[in-house]
Amino acid sequence: MKPIPQARQEAIPSLNPAPANHQQTCSEVKVFLVGAGPGDAELLTLRAARLLQCADVIVYDHLVSDDVLNYAAPHAQRIYVGKQTNCHTLPQQQINQLLVDLAKQYQNHPPHDDACKHKLTIAGAHQVIVRLKGGDPFIFGRGGEEVEALAEQGIAFEVVPGITAASGVASYAGIPLTHRDFAQSCVFTTGHLKDGSLNLDWDALSRPHQTVVIYMGLQALPEITRQFLLHGAPENTPVALVEQGTSAQQRVLCGTLTTITDLCRALGLKSPSLIIIGQVVTLHRKLQWFHNQQAQ
Ligand code: SAH
Repeated sequence: MKPIPQARQEAIPSLNPAPANHQQTCSEVKVFLVGAGPGDAELLTLRAARLLQCADVIVYDHLVSDDVLNYAAPHAQRIYVGKQTNCHTLPQQQINQLLVDLAKQYQNHPPHDDACKHKLTIAGAHQVIVRLKGGDPFIFGRGGEEVEALAEQGIAFEVVPGITAASGVASYAGIPLTHRDFAQSCVFTTGHLKDGSLNLDWDALSRPHQTVVIYMGLQALPEITRQFLLHGAPENTPVALVEQGTSAQQRVLCGTLTTITDLCRALGLKSPSLIIIGQVVTLHRKLQWFHNQQAQ
């Protein structure tokens, strides 16, 4: 694990203090559900970076990059609860319970250190538990279920939004999600349903003049493209796959509904990858600005 960049550590607390409404409450322990963004640590919000620096415990999943974790204070306890499709490290129910248990355990810890004043200013709490999740915690992140569990136990919490994969990845791929010439709306959907089925509203998704962004859709790509074609989308509808978007390993693959599955197989794209379907994808060629390390 790389050390926390010194300049960053010093720079962030010296920025304007957190807004007043974050300073009003002063409970002993608070759980912060924090969005870590899509990968590039520069995309963290100021609030996320500040909270990471004063967290006592950080519970994080597999989408959180090392660069983001490097913002954590060295003393912070780090608990990995990562989940990948078909490879659950901890079932969701147990993650919910872990957050509740940590909050109760820390409730009984008396505040003891000088950092306490700093924590009260930043976090309104003596003890700070950060639940760090990739992207935005309330977009396909099951963040709602985690804070429900906290609310049911009367545990104080706060939600810190993050840049969701669709925004971050599309920006770094040079694909505007809306554009007056091509798409007047944008839909975020999932390609991985709870029961394993893929029972989406294909009629609505296949309509023109919109952009469809599919999270967790890589495995189901052949079925997704098949359904779009079955529901009337033209064969040449542009499709992009973006693997590890915003990171130095980002790969962007562009094709059409009829070609993308074979291209994907040929290049062996892996998770996390985002699928973007719609005419806006054609802008990638002109607007790509982010070049990963391999391309430099
Ligand atoms: N809460 C997260 C989404 C979690 S679902 C968010 O708001 O972004 C996980 C899915 O998000 C992955 O399967 C992938 O489809 C997408 N994803 C997350 N990070 C990504 C990245 N850096 N590049 C490409 N896709 C990503």
